[in-house]
Amino acid sequence: MKKGVPICHHCDESSGIKKHGITAAGFQRYFCMLCKRSFQTGYTYKGREQYIAGQIERLLLDGLTPEQISEEIQVEFNTVKQHVKKLSLLAD
Ligand SMILES: [Zn+2]
Repeated sequence: MKKGVPICHHCDESSGIKKHGITAAGFQRYFCMLCKRSFQTGYTYKGREQYIAGQIERLLLDGLTPEQISEEIQVEFNTVKQHVKKLSLLAD
């Protein structure tokens, strides 16, 4: 998978993704040529836990609190907390 290219939230493919502007909230929007639907990064989506975990880890290292991370990547606070817990267990 190419770095920086997201996977379509609808069909899980990354081969037909085109950038599609920026949302009002500042998220990058993308358009999937395969299923002809648009989506934006920043939302959580099922089956991509690893991607979310990577983002959470990076933001934690940047010094953000779980609350801020939840806001930043638009992931449920409880989800963030679970990941933070996992990461801190790994660190031990
Ligand atoms: Zn798609």
